[in-house]
Amino acid sequence: MAVKSGSTRPGILPPSRRMSDAVRDALRRPLASLRLSVTDRCNLRCRYCMPEDEYVWLPRTSILTFEEIARLTSVFTGLGVQKVRLTGGEPLLRHDLPTLVAKIARNPRVNDLAMTTNGLLLGKQAAALRAAGLQRVTVSLDTLRPERMLAFAKSARHADVLEGIAAAQRAGFDRLKLNAVVIRGFNDDELADLIEFARAHAAEVRFIEYMDVGGATRWSRDQVVSQREMLEVLARRYGAIEPVHATGDDDRAPAERFRLADGTTFGIIASVTAPFCRTCDRSRITADGTWFLCLYARAGIDLREPLRHGVSDDELASLIRETWQGRTDRGAEERLGIADRGALYRIDSLRADPHREMHTRGG
Ligand code: SAM
Repeated sequence: MAVKSGSTRPGILPPSRRMSDAVRDALRRPLASLRLSVTDRCNLRCRYCMPEDEYVWLPRTSILTFEEIARLTSVFTGLGVQKVRLTGGEPLLRHDLPTLVAKIARNPRVNDLAMTTNGLLLGKQAAALRAAGLQRVTVSLDTLRPERMLAFAKSARHADVLEGIAAAQRAGFDRLKLNAVVIRGFNDDELADLIEFARAHAAEVRFIEYMDVGGATRWSRDQVVSQREMLEVLARRYGAIEPVHATGDDDRAPAERFRLADGTTFGIIASVTAPFCRTCDRSRITADGTWFLCLYARAGIDLREPLRHGVSDDELASLIRETWQGRTDRGAEERLGIADRGALYRIDSLRADPHREMHTRGG
C-alpha cells in the first residue's frame, strides 16, 4: 500500500508494502489492523459499555510492559499489520503513554498510528502524544449535553472532553474523528447537532449502532437506532445524502461514509444491522496480552505466556500466522441471525471472565 500523504511522522518514511503481502485468514481477510488495549481501567461508566462501579480487573503483573507491547507489534507488522490503534479501557489512564507511542512510531511498517479516547485527559496530553508520533485521534462524544453525560456515563466532566477535542485540533492530528454510540431515548435526537459540532471543529462524526458486545448488559434490540433510520432522520433535516465510495485506504474501514449536499461528511458504523465481517481485517490484544480475532469471540489466544517464557520472534510469528490462517470468525453476522437477540453476556458471566468485557478487549 502506498504511503498516505497524511502520514506526517517526521523523519520516518514507511516502506511501501502491499496488502497482498499480509497473512490471510480462511476467508482471505488480511491481518492488517491491530487494536492494542493498553489498560482495562476507565474513568467513565458509560451505560452501553461499563455500567457497574466496580469490576474484576486484570492482575497488575499480567499487564504487558511497553517493551512487550512494542515487541508484539513488531511481530504483527512483520506479518502484514500496518494500522495500529491504541484503545482500552481508557488509554490515557496508562501512565506515560507518549513513551509507548514513540516506541511504536519507530516501527517503519506502521503507517497509521491512531488512538480512541474518551477525551477526558486529552487536553493535557495531546501535544506530547502528537510529538511522540501519534497520527490520528478519535474522541468518543455521545452527547453535547453535559447533563446527559452525567446521567449516562456518571461523569460531570463534559467540559474536559471539549477541551480535549480543542487540544487535539491545536496539536495538529490528521482527520480528527468523533465517535457517538446512538441509543434510542438517550441521544438519538442529537444526530444533526453532532454533525454541526463536528463541522465547526473540522472533525468527522461517526455514528455507531449500539452493539450487544460484552459489557452492554442492558442491551436490547429496541434501543438500537439503525443506519437506515439515522439516514432517514438526517435526510429530513439536510435533504439528499449521498454515499462516499470507499477508496483504497478505507475500503476495509468499519464506517460507511456519507456526504451532505454542502459537502459535509459523516460516517455510520452499522455493526448490528449491516455487519461487515466479510472485510474485517482487525484483531485485538488486551492489556494482558490476550489476542482476540473477533470482538464477539468466546476466547482469545494467550500471547503473554510465550512472550514471557523466552520464545523467539520467529516462534511468535509462527503461532500468530497459523492462528490467523485458521480464522473463520464472523461474530456480528452470526448475531444477526439470532431471532430473540438479547445482551451477549449477563453480569455474572462477565465477572467470571473479565476478558469478555468490551473495556478489556478494546473498542
Ligand atoms: N475509552 C475509550 C473511548 O471511550 O473511546 C476507548 C475504549 S471504548 C471501548 C472504544 C469505543 O467503543 C468507543 O467509541 C465506544 O463508544 C465504543 N463502544 C463501547 N461499547 C459499545 C457498544 N455497546 N456499542 C457500540 N460501541 C461501543
